[in-house]
Amino acid sequence: MLLVLWAVGAAWASPSMVVTNATLAKGLCSEHQKEIPVTLPDDWKAHNLKPPAVACYRAKIFMAHSPTIAWALRIDRLPGNHRITVNGIQLTTRHMEGADVTSMATLPYLIELPVNVLLAGDNDIEIDVRMGPFRKPGISPMTAGPIALMRADFDTWTSLTVDLPKTLNWMVAGMALFLLLAWRARPSDKVFAYFGGLMVVMSSRNAFYFLETIGWPIPIVDWLFFSSHAVTSFYLVAFGMSYANVDLSRIINPLRVLVVAFILGSFAALDTPHLNTLRLIAYPIMMIGGIVVVIKVVQTAWKRDWVEAVFMTAGPVGTYISVAHDYLFLTPYLDVTDLYWTPYCTPVIFLGYALTLMRKFVDTMNLSERMNITLEERVAERTRALEVANQSKTRFLASASHDLRQPTAAIGLLVSLLRQQKVAPEVKELTDMLDEAVASMESLLVGLLDISRLDAGAVQVQFQPVCLNDVFHAVRVHEKSAADAKGLQLRFRFPANAGPHLTVLTDPVLIHGVLRNLVANAIRYTKQGGVLVAVRRHGKRRLRIEIWDTGIGIAPDQQERIFDEFYQVGNSARDRSRGIGLGLAIVRRTASLLGEQVTVKSRVGRGSCFSIELPLNHVNTSKPVAPSSPQHPMAGRNAWIVEDDPILRRALGEMLQSWGAQVRTWPDGEALLDELPQLLAATSRTQRPDILITDYRLPGINGLQLSQTIQAYLRESGVSLYTLIISGDTDPAEIARLNASGQVVMAKPFRSERLLEQLLALHQAKAA
Ligand code: ADP
Repeated sequence: MLLVLWAVGAAWASPSMVVTNATLAKGLCSEHQKEIPVTLPDDWKAHNLKPPAVACYRAKIFMAHSPTIAWALRIDRLPGNHRITVNGIQLTTRHMEGADVTSMATLPYLIELPVNVLLAGDNDIEIDVRMGPFRKPGISPMTAGPIALMRADFDTWTSLTVDLPKTLNWMVAGMALFLLLAWRARPSDKVFAYFGGLMVVMSSRNAFYFLETIGWPIPIVDWLFFSSHAVTSFYLVAFGMSYANVDLSRIINPLRVLVVAFILGSFAALDTPHLNTLRLIAYPIMMIGGIVVVIKVVQTAWKRDWVEAVFMTAGPVGTYISVAHDYLFLTPYLDVTDLYWTPYCTPVIFLGYALTLMRKFVDTMNLSERMNITLEERVAERTRALEVANQSKTRFLASASHDLRQPTAAIGLLVSLLRQQKVAPEVKELTDMLDEAVASMESLLVGLLDISRLDAGAVQVQFQPVCLNDVFHAVRVHEKSAADAKGLQLRFRFPANAGPHLTVLTDPVLIHGVLRNLVANAIRYTKQGGVLVAVRRHGKRRLRIEIWDTGIGIAPDQQERIFDEFYQVGNSARDRSRGIGLGLAIVRRTASLLGEQVTVKSRVGRGSCFSIELPLNHVNTSKPVAPSSPQHPMAGRNAWIVEDDPILRRALGEMLQSWGAQVRTWPDGEALLDELPQLLAATSRTQRPDILITDYRLPGINGLQLSQTIQAYLRESGVSLYTLIISGDTDPAEIARLNASGQVVMAKPFRSERLLEQLLALHQAKAA
């Protein structure tokens, strides 16, 4: 409306003349058919003309003088296919030859009238037009005037009525494609699909309104326009109903069928009068369907907040009105000078709904942030609760395993003693079985201790150059007998071009534990064939140690789970003779302390390969382990034992005596300290103790304080004493304290061989 007022105002203000009287004839002007007088704007009512068709307008301009400057003829509505002749001079011709390119719209044109074209008196204007299908035909009044005065107004008018709506609609079509992409990412949000589809179809059709001409056959263009209306109606109903939360599942398929039927039906009716009949049926249905949807959407929007209510009322109601207006525009009720409204309305609706979506998006983001904060708080709370639960589990494990270790250590030593006795074969068989049972109980307790020490961070890593050959030697010493017992070959292989003294930078104790565990498993899970420990170079700086076996293998879905605590493949009955399921958990934790990873490759029935990488070191400093075990390895040594548990005390005493040592025992530290001055005074220098074995948890002072006090006491008299603290503690704090003391600590329970190994090592150190 504003645009029209502005145009009228602009025309009035310029010194130009408006032509409204003309004649209309069917066919081209050159055909000179019967002319009928018309008043511009005209939309082909005379002659009962309808597009697609060709017509000829004639008009006159009276000039008092022939103008000395260039003039122009402005026609705001003129079909894209036209030819203009003034006084017999053809000024412009657009696509008038052949009917293959047809006009899509009536658009504004400014035709220059050079000097000498207009003459004094009447000037004849002839305009041939050809109008494409399904558009408002005809032309507007013509305005003639000096071109310099008309150009600016004309350009503004063209920008506002052609360029702006065309550009906006292409933009909306492009942006609506993003909504379709959003729907692809979230298929459950169908409203994106419906609104996106609606906007793509509607705005591209709007943009088509402004195309001057189109090169497609007229029936196809006609059919495409009809189909696009049917698709638009479908999307409108689908969008409106999903927005209003109406369950679409029942109506969506009938709707689809209806739309497809219209599209196919109109295709079949192409180029026949039936197409118009179909339109007559279809459009009222679409208009009625549209009104139901608009009411639903508006009702829903008013249940939400006012911003949404305003946008979602203005949008659909505006669309409905503009669509109704544009249909009316095609009838003779509205002049050809009117404008299509939908091209202006569609971008506004898009903007409105985009704003609604944006608000929803922002609200959702805010909500998710709030939920995130709450979630984080709850996670932190749960973590704290878990930590507390974990600590009490550790405490429980510590005290339970401490209390279990004491008797287990005693039983272990007593069984060892028993096996040294000469007994009847039946008793021997029983003691062997007892020994086996105690061994498996011990390994469980040792495993638990190892795990809790690793979890408590109580294991200190001491990186140093380590000769691999030495580590392998130690592993072989421990595992060879198990391999021999099963008739398996246990082999160690270095890279072809490397000497046996290849050294790596690692912690000797920890890597020994890892390899021993892996080799023990390889032997345990192999029936025939062998176990190979192979070393390969991995780049210039690293080595890879691979433990291959020809055993039962591990299924792919189990290969990660075997590293979990107590997980054993196919041992749901928990048969303890098949291990306890802690080995690989310890291996993985130990390896990660070393900064490495243990990996596994395996095929069921073919065997497995566990591997670990280590950094190379080029200096060889470690010494081979020297295993020695004479008949009475402790002969001539004095050992003092402090242990509050009478059975363990006795078992330890007898064990050491059986190895040839002189033994004295006390139930607690204070009893020993009371006697200490007398003992030192009375006994000769050679009878002074070499080794003190003390329990850590004693009544009164603990084993650590006791050994430190005695060491200090003896140091004054020039005697050096080596102490071995035996401890069943799993409490991380206690373990850490003991480790930090620098004393040699051995965890309970232990087998007699380990005790002997430890004592001999201490003795060697003392001798050195
Ligand atoms: P354990 O050997 O005491 O059962 P581990 O933690 O060392 O416990 O191993 C866990 C499980 O992994 C074993 O029970 C076994 O099923 C599987 N496993 C470990 N090493 C091998 C191997 N070399 N070959 C086949 N299975 C193995």
